[in-house]
Amino acid sequence: MRIAVTSDIHANLAALEAVLAHAGAVDAIWNTGDCVGYGPQPSECIARLREANALWVAGNHERAATGAMSVDEFNQSAADAALWTREQLSEDEKTFLDALPEVTVEGDFTLVHGTLRWPVWEYLDGPDTALAHLSLQRTRFGFVGHTHVPALVTERPDSTEGCQIRRLHDGEAIDLSTDERLVLNPGSVGQPRDGDKRASYGILDTDARTFTLHRVEYEIAATQRLMDKAGLPVWLIERLDIGR
Ligand code: ZN
Repeated sequence: MRIAVTSDIHANLAALEAVLAHAGAVDAIWNTGDCVGYGPQPSECIARLREANALWVAGNHERAATGAMSVDEFNQSAADAALWTREQLSEDEKTFLDALPEVTVEGDFTLVHGTLRWPVWEYLDGPDTALAHLSLQRTRFGFVGHTHVPALVTERPDSTEGCQIRRLHDGEAIDLSTDERLVLNPGSVGQPRDGDKRASYGILDTDARTFTLHRVEYEIAATQRLMDKAGLPVWLIERLDIGR
């Protein structure tokens, strides 16, 4: 099976379409949350994933978009965008998002937005959170999102930190025929934060047992124009250009 693994699409349809075109024919889409929030086309992005029958876990932005989570802990621009998103979504879309699980297991893979300790909120961005996550991960492999930075965590029980974390770059293929337990982050489709403004996603090939990270150019200005028209916060518009 060839599976497109996406995360943090953030209502950026131009980025999502570019990624799906780049992926070509796939057997499935797995998405580790935050399909909505920040960007201008939440309903369109939800529809695209529903059409594809994506395997999908909720992120904090799905929860905020329905009102299931308050925006009190969000920064100002994220809160403004979440409240705007809440107004755009239909009752049917909110019901659908509220029904998304926070954790799902598919074969050797566990999917969660943040960490298994705190599924929709905690950033897996250092050894402490990685080890907390790994202690709860019952499968060999995990997929997470939330940080918007593509990364690989390798469990190393004999090392001082207990694991190794490193960033992933365009075209890098990770060999999954390993005895080590791994956590993979495909980066963000719709709002990358690693200094590379191109959309980020990965292809999981379960026959070849590889995960390959890809970066894809898309028409950033098209998304920015729609954000401007919607009156979304200026910082959210600007950051797409710098990938931060
Ligand atoms: Zn996000």
